[in-house]
Amino acid sequence: MIINQLKITLVVSNILKTAFFVSTILLVSCSSTRSPVESKTPKLPPTQVNLKLNICPMSVSNAPPSIDRKVQRLSAVACVNDVEILVAPAPNACLSSGFGFRHGRQHDGLDYQSKPAGTVIAAAKGTVINKVFRIQDYGNWIIIDHGNGVYSSYAHLKSVSSKISINSKVKRGQVLGQMGETGGAAQAIHLHFEVRKGDYDNPKKWWGLTALNSFKLPEKC
Ligand SMILES: [Zn+2]
Repeated sequence: MIINQLKITLVVSNILKTAFFVSTILLVSCSSTRSPVESKTPKLPPTQVNLKLNICPMSVSNAPPSIDRKVQRLSAVACVNDVEILVAPAPNACLSSGFGFRHGRQHDGLDYQSKPAGTVIAAAKGTVINKVFRIQDYGNWIIIDHGNGVYSSYAHLKSVSSKISINSKVKRGQVLGQMGETGGAAQAIHLHFEVRKGDYDNPKKWWGLTALNSFKLPEKC
């Protein structure tokens, strides 16, 4: 009888030990699966942790949600194909036009204004793949390839930095030039900024890509 009780005690003790061991493994594995997600939190300069962007004091078409003209978006970046790209690559500028249909035609980008005319910076790291002057529409125009089929472009620039030419590697935040009103499509000094995705190696090049509204994209990757 005593031997049987000892056996039962031994079995129960072994079950408890096994349960403790399994729960420890589960706890360790749960905490180890959490860390890669936390490490994905974008490391932004302190001034860009939140999007500090105002809607310009004028009638602004297709403006994103705002309160007292402050755009309601926490993140300064948007995620496209795992690439984090700045929503407003014009420091201290306000949004003067949103993405969408306006004045009878589609506006495939975001417009930013500042007075005096401000600097324009690269929205993400990448390689400059085009730098041209288009008199009929975009004026001085830069296109950057960010990899993963993600591209951004900057139009109507007054001037382009001497460090920027085709094949230049750029970092996020690097100055590209100064906003202006070059090109037939500009009616005021501003940056016309576009983000597109797709395969640039197509017959229509830039216009064969899909234009994206940065304000509709996820706030982080
Ligand atoms: Zn525009």
